[in-house]
Amino acid sequence: MKANTLTFIQTKLKEELTVLSRKPLSEATDEELYLALLTYVQQRSESKKETVKGRKLYYISAEFLIGKLLSNNLINLGLYDDVRAVLADAGKDLAALEELEQEPSLGNGGLGRLAACFLDSLATLDLPGDGIGLRYHCGLFHQNFRDNLQNETPDYWLSGADWAERTNIAYPVTLAGTTYLARLYRLAVTGYGGRTNTLNLFDLDTVDESVIKEGISFDKRNTPQNLTLFLYPDDSDDDGRLLRIYQQYLMVSAGAQLILDECEARGCNLHDLADYAAIQINDTHPSMVIPELIRLLTEKGVAFEEAVQIVTDTCAYTNHTILAEALEKWPRSYLEQVVPQLLPIIERLDALARTRTDDPKTAIIDESGQIHMAHMDIHFTHSTNGVAALHTEILKNSELNHFYRLYPEKFNNKTNGITFRRWLLECNPKLTALIGELIGDGFKKDASELEKLLAFEHDKNVLDKIAQIKKENKLALSDWLQHRQGVTLNTDAVFAIQSKRLHEYKRQQLNLLYLIHQYFEIKAGHLLCTPLVSIFGAKAAPAYTIAKDIIHALLTLSEVVSADPEVSKWLQIVFVENYNVTAAEKMIPACDISEQISLASKEASGTGNMKFMLNGALTLGTMDGANVEIAERVGGDNIYIFGQSSSQVIDRYAKGDYCAKDWYESDPNIRRAIDFLTGPQMQKYGCMENLSRLRNELIGKDWFQTLPDFNAYLVRKNQAIADYTYNASDWNRRALINIAKAGFFSSDRTIAEYNEEIWHLG
Ligand SMILES: *Cc1c(COP(=O)(O)O)cnc(C)c1O
Repeated sequence: MKANTLTFIQTKLKEELTVLSRKPLSEATDEELYLALLTYVQQRSESKKETVKGRKLYYISAEFLIGKLLSNNLINLGLYDDVRAVLADAGKDLAALEELEQEPSLGNGGLGRLAACFLDSLATLDLPGDGIGLRYHCGLFHQNFRDNLQNETPDYWLSGADWAERTNIAYPVTLAGTTYLARLYRLAVTGYGGRTNTLNLFDLDTVDESVIKEGISFDKRNTPQNLTLFLYPDDSDDDGRLLRIYQQYLMVSAGAQLILDECEARGCNLHDLADYAAIQINDTHPSMVIPELIRLLTEKGVAFEEAVQIVTDTCAYTNHTILAEALEKWPRSYLEQVVPQLLPIIERLDALARTRTDDPKTAIIDESGQIHMAHMDIHFTHSTNGVAALHTEILKNSELNHFYRLYPEKFNNKTNGITFRRWLLECNPKLTALIGELIGDGFKKDASELEKLLAFEHDKNVLDKIAQIKKENKLALSDWLQHRQGVTLNTDAVFAIQSKRLHEYKRQQLNLLYLIHQYFEIKAGHLLCTPLVSIFGAKAAPAYTIAKDIIHALLTLSEVVSADPEVSKWLQIVFVENYNVTAAEKMIPACDISEQISLASKEASGTGNMKFMLNGALTLGTMDGANVEIAERVGGDNIYIFGQSSSQVIDRYAKGDYCAKDWYESDPNIRRAIDFLTGPQMQKYGCMENLSRLRNELIGKDWFQTLPDFNAYLVRKNQAIADYTYNASDWNRRALINIAKAGFFSSDRTIAEYNEEIWHLG
């Protein structure tokens, strides 16, 4: 049987190679083999598509951070081991082919990665659910470091072989009076043993990368050529903000036409649209799908009131943040300029909402003429969900309380999850194999089976193996970094990793202050009990000045430390360039201490925290987002919690009585660390303008309350390092408990909940 599969795969690859290059397997180049495999995988995925009978989900999202596809698809299709064996037989290495693939640059962080995990779980659970998004040519940007500063260049990820297939389908979309054709591309989404679904990506044929000038700048007014160039074009000026509306409307208008077409083809008469389609609006970027669907339905003869009801029954909204600046609101004049066809509809929706309540806080169009996208979502969808228990409670009790009182039945929680296929099977094959030996392979489909690992809590042999695998993963990360950035890691050290978007609320600056503090301690002869490797990965939004200053400070400090042999023996600070899914897959399996140190109440959920836990890291974190649920599951002994609680933070904001300067003046450790930023050591390698701006920000504002949590963080982190050093076997036992308790955080569980409570698919 086994031999037969291998021969079959061999034959298929040979066939593909013959078409491509007329070469035998052993003589084909890696590029040729990669293309042959791509075609083979596409054929296999195609054969798992299914016709849809009942309700089908459309997950609309501005981002899908899907990661590389070759290995993921091979694993999901059950072909990985066989393909690797066939290649090895011909003297070829699958890992080398993986290196050829460019990671699709279609997302920027957690929100886009969540969308990708959801697509994987939908297909795995055999549910009908497709994605709708945009095909950005250069995605976010590619990050590299120059003079200790973030440098941004276009990420030309489409230059290699393309997994998405161009179709002949195109929909007209009218933007600012001009009609464009939105071309549909289709990307197969494989499930682990399940079906194949589709990610639908729209693009304009006229978009032209040659309009990009210096770095990532381009003419923001040249719509036909720039529309899908970048994800989140810089919105620090009006043209950038308008361009975002162009993008959003392109996505939702083409998406809505696709949905109606598909449903009508399946027999839908539009009045019964909600029986054929469920639409999930991922954050507010796709919110215009609501008025757009109403517009299309009324154009096809449905009465306005009925169209509103149909759309409400069809659509649901996910809220991802309570950060006010991230809740999109657009000046009415912007929408008037770009999508005048929607404005009368939005005005009618606003009037309709006002018949339900006279609370001005729930208005869609406020008195200053701003249009609040989230408000439109909550009024005119049937479900509003938060993404972790704490986040949903904060939405209900404070941030969206006025809406909760109006529509208590619409609010619900869906704690985020991650796909274990990518974040365990693919990124940590050694740990996966060990788990399989211990408890069988059932956990790959039913993550709750990981709890069976608890039986090995006191098995020294198993705990040693877990430690051994961690060590090997550290070596692999070090090799990878050596190759990429010329940095070799001290693999005898404890690894603490903070990798996520750079944002003040995530508080990389708290970690920075800790590292400066340790620098002083080491200089004073107060050594750490074991050397620490502190690893960062993070992109800062191009217009986010302070975030870039934090990167600069960390890179500069890294240089100060590595130039000082007294300190560098004990401390290594490494910033991984261009943090993306590929980098995450290398970093996470090598981590001992997972840094989840956002200001309590600010991180809606986090999913990085789940990936680290699943790979046997212990969390050092605040009671924020899904950290709360991780703590609940693993118990207080198996996580390092510190810092203010969310209610303390919310109180402090309400009172408005936080004064960073008081903390700076009264705590000598804090003052010493902050002043170091502009001291002579940092000046030697850094830029005073950036460093003093950051120092001023920390003393004068510190909006995310870093200083009150500083001492608690210092104590907990040093406790973790001490436990790691002096109680190694107990550390490994606690790592095993974290792995065993990670099952709840599988996105299969999340998707099952969405389906049971919101979508009711199939
Ligand atoms: C998981 C992931 C994130 C989200 O990380 P958080 O810690 O939840 O913010 C961001 N970027 C990449 C590449 C990821 O894989």
